[in-house]
Amino acid sequence: MSTQKDRARRRSAKEIAKRALAIAAEAGNEAGVWSADGAEKPFWETKTLDEMSPAEWDSLCDGCAQCCLNKLEDEDTGKIYLTRVACGLLDVGSCRCTDYANRFEIMPDCLSIDIKAVKSLRWLPESCAYRRIDEGRGLAWWHPLVSGDPDTVHQAGVSVRGWARSEKGLREDQIARFIIGEAC
Ligand code: SF4
Ligand code: SF4
Repeated sequence: MSTQKDRARRRSAKEIAKRALAIAAEAGNEAGVWSADGAEKPFWETKTLDEMSPAEWDSLCDGCAQCCLNKLEDEDTGKIYLTRVACGLLDVGSCRCTDYANRFEIMPDCLSIDIKAVKSLRWLPESCAYRRIDEGRGLAWWHPLVSGDPDTVHQAGVSVRGWARSEKGLREDQIARFIIGEAC
């Protein structure tokens, strides 16, 4: 006899499928979501990062905006410190870039998160979906692809909502006041 928890898990799997298809359809790449063997598993469980289509790659970002926070590097030790000061283009309430299309022109130090970045950037948060998949940890319950709800990343406290502040109005030499930890 199945328990309540088991039933919840099965319902959740259906929702995952529905949500993943919807996201892929929005991205105009419906056919690319599922594995080629037709198995009823979502793409993030069947593909490696370098096998994902551009639409799948984009949908993997959980929208936490942690990568939009300023980092400070100690020139002497090479240590990287994380701060809660966000890029001036980030809307810290919605955790969205306010000019995503022109971000590289406006913010030359904005980095594109590609496979090389995932494998080399020490400061990507452990919660980052790309890092999780690369390390074989799968996606957590709060990931919008799993929950079907873009708000769960905020509800779980994974996003920067509620604790980041914009770099607007701060001088560069003031950013160190907002260090929250060291990259591991
Ligand atoms: S840290 Fe990773 S999951 Fe979060 S916004 Fe950046 S790329 Fe997306
Ligand atoms: S330009 Fe946009 S995507 Fe890039 S770091 Fe700033 S807020 Fe994030």
